[in-house]
Order: sequence, then C-alpha cells, then structure tokens
Amino acid sequence: MTRRTLVFLLSVAVLLGAGGLGLRGTWPWTRLSDTVPTARAIVVTQPFRVVHDTLQRGETVSALLLRQGVTGLDLRALASALRFDPHRIKAGLVFSVRREGAADLPTHVEFRPNADQWLRFVRTAAGNWTGEAVPIHWTMDTIRVSGEIQSNLYEALDRSVSDATLDENERHKLVYQLASVNGYTLDFSRDLQPGDPFASVVERQVSETGEVRFGRVLASQFTVGNKTYQAFSYPGANGQDAYYDANGTALKRAFLVSPVDFRYITSGFSFSRFHPILGLFRKHEGVDYAAAAGSPVEAAGDGTVTVAGRAGDYGNLVEIRHRDGIVTRYGHLSSIGLGIRPGLHVAQGEQIGRVGMTGLATGPHLHYEFRVNGVARDPRSIRSEPGAPLPNHELADFRRQRALLSELLGGSPGTTPITE
Ligand SMILES: [Zn+2]
Repeated sequence: MTRRTLVFLLSVAVLLGAGGLGLRGTWPWTRLSDTVPTARAIVVTQPFRVVHDTLQRGETVSALLLRQGVTGLDLRALASALRFDPHRIKAGLVFSVRREGAADLPTHVEFRPNADQWLRFVRTAAGNWTGEAVPIHWTMDTIRVSGEIQSNLYEALDRSVSDATLDENERHKLVYQLASVNGYTLDFSRDLQPGDPFASVVERQVSETGEVRFGRVLASQFTVGNKTYQAFSYPGANGQDAYYDANGTALKRAFLVSPVDFRYITSGFSFSRFHPILGLFRKHEGVDYAAAAGSPVEAAGDGTVTVAGRAGDYGNLVEIRHRDGIVTRYGHLSSIGLGIRPGLHVAQGEQIGRVGMTGLATGPHLHYEFRVNGVARDPRSIRSEPGAPLPNHELADFRRQRALLSELLGGSPGTTPITE
C-alpha cells in the first residue's frame, strides 16, 4: 500500500465516521446551533490600520504626509492655535497615521512634537482636518544629588544617581547645567580634583507616562581644595533665575571662566586622559582646552574685536579688547564666526568661531589667552572680582530662600527625594 492510498483510506474513514455521528445526532461536541443563539454576523464597516512613519533627516513634514497619502492637512495653519512650532519638528520624530475603510484613507495623524504634548489631527467628513493638543502632565519633586569626584563629574553622577532617579542622558545634561550655573567661578575641566565633594538641589519632573527629567538647578555646592563654591537660585528682575553666593552677590561676572562650553571639553571625561600640555599656563601664556573640532567658541566677555584672521602660530585668531586694559585671544580656530571682524562689538557668550587646529597645533583645541595691560594672566584669577550684590530690599527674602536651600544641600550623601 502506498502512502497516498493510506491517506485516502483514512480520510474516507473519518468522513464516514463523522457522517454516521451526524446522522444519529450524537456529535461528540456540542453543535453551536443547539445551545447558542446564532450571533448576528459582525460586519466590519470600519477596518483600520495604523502606520508609523519616521521623519527623515532633511525631510519636511509635508513630504512625510505626502508619502502617507495625507492631503489637505496644513500643519502651519493649525500651528499657532495648537501652540507648537512646525519648524522645530526634528528628524526622528515618529508620526502615526490611521487609515480606515476599504479605501484605506488616512483619517487620523498623531505625533508628539515635544515632551509636553501630543498633537492629534482628525479628518472630518467634509475632508478638512481639525487639530487637538493633548497635554502630557508632569509632576515635580525636588531631589538632592551629591557625591565625591573620583575622576570627573560625569562619573561621579553616574555613581551617585540611579537610572530610576535620572537616566544617563539627564545626568549628563545636569552636568552641563551645573557647569553653566558655576561658569563664572569654576572651570569644571581644570578645577575639580579627586576627593572634592559636591552637592546640588535639583527639581525633577516625572511625566504621566513615566519619563523623568530634571528641571531647574536650585542650589549647588562644590568644595575645591579648601574653598567652597556655592550657588543659590533666586528670581532675577526679568523673572528668570539668577544665581548668587551665600552673601547675595551675583555669580555672574564680566568674564566666563572658560570660553568653551563644558559639554564640548573632551578632557572633561577623564583626568587620566588629560593632555599633558592642558592647563600648563606659564610656558605659552595661555590655557589650552581640548575640545572636539567644530565646537563653538564664545567671547568670554563684552568687548570689541581687534583681530580676526590668520596670525602665524596662532592659526585663525580672534582677539577682543575689553574694558580695564583686558584683552582675550582665541587661537587655532577652524573657522572664524560669520561677520566677526575688527571693530565689531561682541557680547559675552556670543559665538566668535569654532575649535580647530590651524597654526601650530597637534590636535583640535582652543588656545585661550587672558591679558591685563599686556601681561598674560590665568583667567581663573579674575574670579576674585565680585559680582553685583542683590538690592537691600531683596536681601531678607533671599536669605529665607538660601536658608531653606542650605539645609537641603547639607543632607546625607547620595540621592534623596526631598519632597513628593
Ligand atoms: Zn596653547
């Protein structure tokens, strides 16, 4: 007997058996028609599917919508009512498009342009689109983050703050923020040393979907050697937070300590990788900051550009004259900022060029000089010049806030939720 014959015979046996049982009304299983009322057939009138599409680099939102067959949806026309900026929608944003019916027509478009809201667009029967902003709620608490520097601040925060409290991305942003708050008094790439303790009081926000981000830095304290640098936030005249020392003197100074934002300093990641010439001051009358090529270089203070161009070993150089006989120089730039030329007035923090290795340089870095009446000085020495004091009538209020923040700063080491 061949295999095929066997299969045929078995099939016949099964059919005969089933037929016999059916005829006798003794199905071994319950016939649906006997016990269950017949359900009305479900007619799917609105089958739908949801397609996700990601905005590609260099692509416009209109191009993405067109690819999805979405027509007549003018985001720009709906933008102001929904309070979002269509120009700030970045590559990588995921759009969900819901398509319905046999025609597979797009009827809903949804995306999240920022951390605070969803945007939903629905096509009406008339073929127009209506938009709706759905806010995402964040609750806020205050945490204390503290620890001790072993190699650098990134590593110290990674050690003392758990992922559940703040993820790595937020921890690194907090490092930049702490460097920025203390940017007139501390050079994070040169000053912090192993064993230095630090603490900060930070707002933390948790969204209804469980995301965590940090808010404002309320206070920070870094002990470098035997000196303690404190920063207390206090609302300034423009409603924005400003930072003050314990006496109510503004931390803001006429000069930034470092003309390269700490986030770009490559040596900031590890002191063991600290380039031997970095920080050496006397030999070449300046400070070198190792930073990725192309990192923005900022004017350390308000002043007038006196040199902007090629200058021997300096390579591309910008020189700025400030008041009180102070001159700053920025060398080895890969490029000089557009429109930066002699005679131009620049403001503190304004971008004047980008880090490079033009002139006599073995790797990308900024050569920074700070000269007073022609004599090179360590830019860190300028931190002795005091900032503006708070007006007298605000001092009592400031002291109340400072007392509260000081108490929060002084808690036990590690990360502690302070309020819920
Ligand atoms: Zn140098």
